[in-house]
Amino acid sequence: RYNKNMAEDIFDKIIEGKIPSYKVYEDDDVLAFLDISQATPGHTLLVSKKHIDNIYDYDDESAKKVLTKIPIIARAIRKSNPKIIGLNILNNNGQAAGQSVIHTHWHFIPRYQDDKLDF
Ligand code: 5GP
Repeated sequence: RYNKNMAEDIFDKIIEGKIPSYKVYEDDDVLAFLDISQATPGHTLLVSKKHIDNIYDYDDESAKKVLTKIPIIARAIRKSNPKIIGLNILNNNGQAAGQSVIHTHWHFIPRYQDDKLDF
């Protein structure tokens, strides 16, 4: 559901360029940019340019436009640093699941030897 009266969220502002971000990948449908709080170096967020609150509101067309970019971004991140030896891809839906920005996004968290990150 896209509600034009919906309050603009921080990711809408990043997409519109009103808030600066370090872009990792961009096309007509999606933007991937570095997370302001890096769980590990290279922590990236993928968002749909069309505002969609959470995964429950994704239709087939939006899913195709956005989810097909996951491997492209994964490969770009891996290529950016030879020290990356793994990658966690996470999507939080709802406050109870840790979703703080209500604009569906996927976290790409690169993993490094002995990075001590524990999910
Ligand atoms: P969530 O907790 O909703 O799954 O993830 C939201 C993410 O957005 C957090 O990891 C947070 O650090 C990131 N974030 C919040 N505000 C900004 C911002 O203004 N710029 C960037 N690049 N990331 C942000």
